[in-house]
Amino acid sequence: MNPIFTIPPQNSTDSAQPWQQALANAIRTPEALLAALELSTEQLPAIFNGGETFPLRVPHSFVSRMEKGNPNDPLLRQVLPLNEENNITKGYLIDPVGDLNASETPGLLQKYHGRALMITTGACAIHCRYCFRRHFPYHQQNSAASEWDEALNHLAQERSISEVILSGGDPLALSDQRLSTLLERLALIPHLKRLRIHTRLPVVIPQRITESLITLLTESRLSPIIVIHTNHANEINNELHAALKRLQTIPRITLLNQSVLLRGVNDCSETLIALSEALFASGVLPYYLHLLDKAQGTAHFDLPLSHAMSLLKEVHAKLPGYLVPRLAQEEAGAQGKTLIPPYILKKTQ
Ligand SMILES: *Cc1c(COP(=O)(O)O)cnc(C)c1O
Ligand code: SF4
Repeated sequence: MNPIFTIPPQNSTDSAQPWQQALANAIRTPEALLAALELSTEQLPAIFNGGETFPLRVPHSFVSRMEKGNPNDPLLRQVLPLNEENNITKGYLIDPVGDLNASETPGLLQKYHGRALMITTGACAIHCRYCFRRHFPYHQQNSAASEWDEALNHLAQERSISEVILSGGDPLALSDQRLSTLLERLALIPHLKRLRIHTRLPVVIPQRITESLITLLTESRLSPIIVIHTNHANEINNELHAALKRLQTIPRITLLNQSVLLRGVNDCSETLIALSEALFASGVLPYYLHLLDKAQGTAHFDLPLSHAMSLLKEVHAKLPGYLVPRLAQEEAGAQGKTLIPPYILKKTQ
């Protein structure tokens, strides 16, 4: 079995936390998802179960933010597998961002100066249909605690690295006990200054922001940065708002958001503006708006670059600069994300 669907092992001393129960109880079939939303298959384009390597998975909390009876709900579209995923589209690849070549040490990717990305687990709480990691061979880029050794040794030797990025999968799929072990070991590496966590887990299960997680981050020597991943303002309900406010009790914390520009989800300027406003109201600043990574099976989410640029121009015309996300693209072999050049706002005639 591909480790992408395994839930990370728990220590026997861990009692299952509410968030872990929510993770275990996630919806895993299109039938159950449609029933929860009072939809019938006739109301939708052809769907399937997502296939063996990347099956449908969505926690109930996220489903509760979808509109019942709406086959075009922007949150539903992110998780419901459409048959179009099985189309083979030219130019859409298995490893669109060159991650397989960037990895010299198992579980560690360093593409850019000064920061390295650690693959801590292959598990995610939700399977986002547009994700480029859907094809990632997690059984080779492994996450087992024993394999952290190699990644940690490499980090310790590479003195130019001042920031470690925990990624995955989703690093917050790890239990607080396993995170605690990892954070302690990272804090022992003297040249590391910052700890960045890229996660969607608290977005889809806000209970993931536990007291013990807050304590771990508060007590760490490393400055924490949490980059959440939301694509639409409807994802930010009261529960998530409260969880984000709890995170802001951590001294020195920086909260950012990254989104992916997705056809049928957030491809209109009002939607992007509403997302930036909602993020700010919850204490989060927009960071990146990624152009879709061209992974095989995701072509139906893609938009032309010219459309993306005109959307950003409209957002820029309506919001303060700090609420305009950076439009970015990941290109294999580049020294950083490729930023789409600034959009110039001309005077209206
Ligand atoms: C995106 C990414 C980063 C982070 O880039 P920032 O511009 O610092 O956010 C780091 N390493 C890898 C491999 C990445 O893909
Ligand atoms: S987008 Fe993030 S949370 Fe969603 S499947 Fe990909 S890695 Fe997991």
